[in-house]
Amino acid sequence: MKNANGKSRTLGPWFLKDGSNNQKLRRVASAPNTKALNEKNSPQSPQQMLGKYNNTNENLSVPAVPARPLSEMKRSGTFKRTYSSNSIKIKSVEVGPNSFQKIKLLGKGDVGKVYLVKEKKTNKLYAMKVLSKKEMIKRNKIKRALAEQEILATSNHPFIVTLYHSFQSEDYLYLCMEYCMGGEFFRALQTRPGKCLLEEDAKFYAAEVIAALEYLHLMGFIYRDLKPENILLHQSGHIMLSDFDLSKQSHPANMPGIVKNSGANSPPSIDTKSCIANLRTNSFVGTEEYIAPEVIKGCGHTSAVDWWTLGILIYEMLYGFTPFKGQNRNATFSNILRNDVYFPETANAQQVSALCKSLIKKLLCKDENRRLGSKAGASDVKAHAFFKNTQWALLRHTTPPIIPQQSYGTDAINFRNIHESVSLDMEGEKIVVEINGENPFEEFNSVTLHHDGDDDVET
Ligand code: AMP
Repeated sequence: MKNANGKSRTLGPWFLKDGSNNQKLRRVASAPNTKALNEKNSPQSPQQMLGKYNNTNENLSVPAVPARPLSEMKRSGTFKRTYSSNSIKIKSVEVGPNSFQKIKLLGKGDVGKVYLVKEKKTNKLYAMKVLSKKEMIKRNKIKRALAEQEILATSNHPFIVTLYHSFQSEDYLYLCMEYCMGGEFFRALQTRPGKCLLEEDAKFYAAEVIAALEYLHLMGFIYRDLKPENILLHQSGHIMLSDFDLSKQSHPANMPGIVKNSGANSPPSIDTKSCIANLRTNSFVGTEEYIAPEVIKGCGHTSAVDWWTLGILIYEMLYGFTPFKGQNRNATFSNILRNDVYFPETANAQQVSALCKSLIKKLLCKDENRRLGSKAGASDVKAHAFFKNTQWALLRHTTPPIIPQQSYGTDAINFRNIHESVSLDMEGEKIVVEINGENPFEEFNSVTLHHDGDDDVET
């Protein structure tokens, strides 16, 4: 069975508050566009600010990204010249569909498929997202795809999936990404005893997710679709956030603020809330069990939705199910709006510390203005006592709790066996892609991104 995103999400039997079993799927709703990134003439990029002030932050090691959005570079014609920053170089696209050999279908998304492919010239493995223009037009998903490309191309973070090339043919858009050999975090969770993790392990993944969200907020993006299905595992076991088609961007991203911490030895930290302080969006997006109350109420939402979803994710990692799941969508929404979070105390339920429960409760505060993270963003969450011993700057050098089964490259052992039914091929039937005489995919940037210190997978 599949959700609207095409992803299988069959929850194992688990117990509701009323003791009943349930097996249900997740689904997603509509999404908006995202666009430009940094302020053109900003004296200092948000990332430089982060590096300067957040000296306990994982993002210290994150190099600068293009100071101008790709769409803008394309419009002004400058996207064609080599763009160079500390670690990212953007060039005219160097590959096309024929540069790759299709090996295996890894997963299905909303309007396309993700294949494991091998670059013929280098033998390197990549995950190639192939989006059907026809499907995008039919289902009004063009803006989403453009947004996803823009976010992937402007992001440069150890916990966010790396984009290497984007290009298009007559019928398809292609996003050539780093292959996350460890597969879906959701699948890894499902194979754990009780489908859950020990608290210390959940803390590790929560910390990596917070680092990724902090970066996205800093860049002016609200992620809006955090859930285990969208977290992929790198072959090292570290997480990689993927699937940005529901994300929303602030125009432009504001400069981050500085939070002065009390105590002589506490360095100031960064206020990422201010990067997206002006962004309030009304689209009804997200995944049923993860949707925040303010999204259901439809009165607009902010980056605080990402902290709500983090609360649900931590709960699901610990208990193997989400806290507000009802018998149907309406019941779930009603639980989200009305019920307090409930912590199972049965003998076989995981023992969860008071500090962890306190964190979850604060993240699942129904009032977005009082929710943890609503003041200064990630800094608020990182400062919670649950993370007292977390070494934020050393996260990516810490050995992850789950090391994915190592494969010999092309066997994709950490992925479900998905069979192709309808063929969506690397080359397909020809269609005329025009809306009101215009090509709606003109804004899609065809680029190649070179990253310093790449650790591409080779067969
Ligand atoms: P998406 O459309 O981004 O949700 O991708 C659909 C599915 O394809 C995911 O659930 C993963 O199983 C797989 N997938 C997407 N991106 C990658 C990647 N970079 N590496 C490995 N698998 C991926």
